[in-house]
Amino acid sequence: MVNNEIKAAEENLIHVYNRFPVVLDHGEGMYLYGTDGKEYLDFAAGFAVTGLGYDNQELKDALKAQIDKLCHISNLYYHESCGEAARALNRVSGMDRVFFTNSGSEAVEGALKAARRYAFTKKTGRYEFIAMKNSFHGRSFGAVSVTGHDAYREPFEPVLPGVKFAEFNNLDSVRELVNDRTCAIILEPLQGEGGINLATQEFMEGIRRICDENGLLMICDEIQCGMGRTGSMFAWQGFGVKPDILTMAKAIGNGIPAGAFAMTEHVAEYSLKPGDHGATYGGNPLACTAVRKVIEIFEREDIVGHVNRVAPYLTRRLDELMSDTDCVIERRGKGLMQGIVLTKPAAEVNSRAVEEGLLVIQAQGNVLRFVPPLIVEEKHIDEMIGKIKRALA
Ligand SMILES: *Cc1c(COP(=O)(O)O)cnc(C)c1O
Repeated sequence: MVNNEIKAAEENLIHVYNRFPVVLDHGEGMYLYGTDGKEYLDFAAGFAVTGLGYDNQELKDALKAQIDKLCHISNLYYHESCGEAARALNRVSGMDRVFFTNSGSEAVEGALKAARRYAFTKKTGRYEFIAMKNSFHGRSFGAVSVTGHDAYREPFEPVLPGVKFAEFNNLDSVRELVNDRTCAIILEPLQGEGGINLATQEFMEGIRRICDENGLLMICDEIQCGMGRTGSMFAWQGFGVKPDILTMAKAIGNGIPAGAFAMTEHVAEYSLKPGDHGATYGGNPLACTAVRKVIEIFEREDIVGHVNRVAPYLTRRLDELMSDTDCVIERRGKGLMQGIVLTKPAAEVNSRAVEEGLLVIQAQGNVLRFVPPLIVEEKHIDEMIGKIKRALA
């Protein structure tokens, strides 16, 4: 049965993912279960998506009730959940105007278009983007154009013209690239795919200053690091450095495909106008029910407070692991988005972890990434450390 599933997938899907030989069936809280009954402790959360874990009854009930009413209308009509989700997302993200997408890449596309549209209205002639080395912004053409990894971009060139890459956490290298054609700077406050690299306070403040002094827009991509993961609802709030445009996805729908880009009122005034942008599914009643309910649960259960209580324990246990284990040489990250740098191949350790019943994710630079559901407790961290030690042995 398990092998039949794997065989059918391998024969029929385009082979772009290196999947583990595991067929998952259902989840409960912090755990996923295979069709063979095997239990997996989840420190991957489907790429930092399932912040509330797998069996939140309230969320499931809200989604089921919405499916019984309507999944889709179109953006030609209003639906209660859409306005409510937008109001909630603006409240927690600190932005003023939001557009719903179906994915993170699509949110990045929208953010780039919004920045170009702002320059167009203002007749500045600006169109260039400055992005960061080691960044990851998604797989669509605009998103790969600003992704600072040759392997993701080169096979598809020529990509969007006018993109320059600066060194992350190096303000001089950003300043050198600014000219009178620069339109916006895009960055992740905490790089995920690129190896769990946290921006310094100085870098975030410096980027804001460079943008203000030169009339550029600051775009923060919080698709992975947003929604409570770093100990504030959005990472920019932890720095106190507000972007002009913010991209979100992953955890905002807890698994129902949902993304968004949002902007300040000032940017909105000069940016996208009726007819400039759209998405057939974006912000449909099912997705908006998910977003609205997820935020309601986050606020009522104080998920961000929980992250701040439990994350120091993860930090401490990973630091202990590093001092006990020769092949772990560094710990990086913030909150419940952390990584360890290995001297052994991370891919092999990752496979061993899966055999041990632990799901983690690799990141660039031989890093193993820990992005558990945000409902993780100390006992799960202890269990994870036990399994990762065996995987590293
Ligand atoms: C995952 C991710 C994306 C792309 O999101 P998709 O939903 O896969 O299109 C973009 N930016 C960051 C920072 C991400 O982590």
